[in-house]
Amino acid sequence: MATSSSDQVPAAARKLEGKVVVITGGASGIGECTARLFVKHGARVVVADIQDELGGRLCAELGAAAASYVHCDVTAEADVAAAVDHAVARFGGLDIMFNNAGIGGAACHSIRESTKEDFERVLSVNLVGPFLGTKHAARVMVPAGRGGCIIGTSSLASAVAGAASHAYTCAKRALVGLTENAAAELGRHGIRVNCVSPAAAATPLATGYVGLEGEAFEEAMEAVANLKGVRLRVADIATAVLFLASDDARYISGHNLLLDGGFSIVNPSFGIFKD
Ligand code: NAD
Repeated sequence: MATSSSDQVPAAARKLEGKVVVITGGASGIGECTARLFVKHGARVVVADIQDELGGRLCAELGAAAASYVHCDVTAEADVAAAVDHAVARFGGLDIMFNNAGIGGAACHSIRESTKEDFERVLSVNLVGPFLGTKHAARVMVPAGRGGCIIGTSSLASAVAGAASHAYTCAKRALVGLTENAAAELGRHGIRVNCVSPAAAATPLATGYVGLEGEAFEEAMEAVANLKGVRLRVADIATAVLFLASDDARYISGHNLLLDGGFSIVNPSFGIFKD
């Protein structure tokens, strides 16, 4: 069933009217939530993922005028190039690239037990993927001459050590480097490049990595959070991505937007604040 017009944000309040977007990892979790929100804001979205059934179902629900699914393994350059070309062919251009696909990799935190295979796999999906997405987005955005916006999904691990595996931490930190370097190159073409860095939100990736589901997962995350009484949800992340993608952030580029409730700027071991 296509998204009904009553699901749409009123025309005057839509932040992405007519914009064309590619979302990698758009079939699940943060990417899915962002795809739904972007369509409500008037965007036309290409969902690029390896979970064909989920992605196809999501796009069928959003309606053919607003969403289109492509199989895309972000580690395969031909797939990423084809996803970008599909957006251009189907919707007439590319305004926003959301390099969001990622994997948690093995939940192994010991450098002595980490494997080279897992390290390379995590780097391949979480870093080479965004590199290819940025490269091919720029390939069509620069000659089109209408600016653009590239956003990556990094992680709290980009700012805090000891939050994830070595592989995941390295990939997400390097993604901030890629974001800044691409912002430095592409600014002259009016293309903004940013990333979001969420703490933990309950998605298949995060719950699988932590080994807890639903309420138990959220309780465990809140127990170690700086900000109490609020739990990070995928909708919060999608809202931040919408902000960066929209004209509300028209002068923001090269930025890593942390969604961590202040976790990364606090060292609780001092314990100087008491009630
Ligand atoms: P998710 O598992 O719900 O979604 C990830 C999506 O990426 C899935 O649809 C999956 O099929 C897709 N994907 C995996 N490998 C792919 C590949 N090779 N090519 C194309 N698509 C592929 O998990 P999520 O939490 O929504 O993850 C989205 C991004 O958010 C990831 O980059 C992840 O590292 C990042 N992130 C998540 C959290 C969190 O707590 N959920 C926190 C920080 C960062």
